[in-house]
Amino acid sequence: MKRKAEILPRGHEDRPGYPMKPKGLLYHTTNNWADGADDEAHSEFLQSGRSSASWHVTVDHDSSIQHLPFNENGWHAGDGGQGYYNRNWIGMEIACNRVKPGEPLDKETYDNAVEEAALIMKEADLTSWGQLQPHNVVYGKDCPHHTLFNREQFKKDVFAKMEENAKPKAPVKGAMPDKNFYFVQKGDTLTEIAEMTGKSVDYLVRLNDIKDPDEIYINQKLRLTGVAATPIPKKPVKPYTPPASAPAVRKYPGYVIQLKKPYMQGKDVAAIQRAVGFKGDDVDEKYGPATVAAVKAYQKRHKLEVDGKVGPKTWNVMF
Ligand SMILES: [Zn+2]
Repeated sequence: MKRKAEILPRGHEDRPGYPMKPKGLLYHTTNNWADGADDEAHSEFLQSGRSSASWHVTVDHDSSIQHLPFNENGWHAGDGGQGYYNRNWIGMEIACNRVKPGEPLDKETYDNAVEEAALIMKEADLTSWGQLQPHNVVYGKDCPHHTLFNREQFKKDVFAKMEENAKPKAPVKGAMPDKNFYFVQKGDTLTEIAEMTGKSVDYLVRLNDIKDPDEIYINQKLRLTGVAATPIPKKPVKPYTPPASAPAVRKYPGYVIQLKKPYMQGKDVAAIQRAVGFKGDDVDEKYGPATVAAVKAYQKRHKLEVDGKVGPKTWNVMF
């Protein structure tokens, strides 16, 4: 709905100009069934100075026009120059030019009136049920006209609209979601949301403490970033088992194994001895002259520098 402002100039005879802090919104119908008696016509009527009344907003099937600021009064309630409603309440007129006398108000105008009232309530900081009333409450005038719509239902619809407006807007499905939140849309699955947001289902489940990934609900707010309340368990690391055919890799001890007195000893020496062909009791874990000779022969066979020492190069060929 298009909302326009055609505020009457200061000093205009239909702009009373008494300051007020709005205490409520009084809704009327124009009860003018003439073709063309829409919000524009009423604005012109007010501008012309021929009106003996004044109000803040007129709404019709395709737009609304504001005539007076909300912090000034209008003469729309019929309770006199000092009247509580005249001096404290905003007046909204609903145009009924689109229907014939006795017919219910057309849906477009009704919906716009609901929307406009909800917006005025919000803008004027009016929040309670009692702050929205039909003109009828002031002295029993048939306004809004009883044939047009149910006055109580109108109030209910306005409050429902206010509640709807207060909800954070859900993004259009498929649109880039907010980087921190996503509001679940009708028909969404967690898998789809995960794909759309580039997160894993598991992460979203844990981040949002979702009990059952198949049970998310419309407008549920999902966090997309942050630290999961339930830590994501590390996938158990399978111990590496080399294929049976692959040679076992033995880590280079970090120093050169060579002939020294006393002989170098240990499991690494034994491994070298086995690598150069020692078997049985010959594997004595001592790097003595026999071992040096066998290492030299090994180095020669493998086109390594023949020095009888096992440094990283020889080691990496052996193991
Ligand atoms: Zn009225």
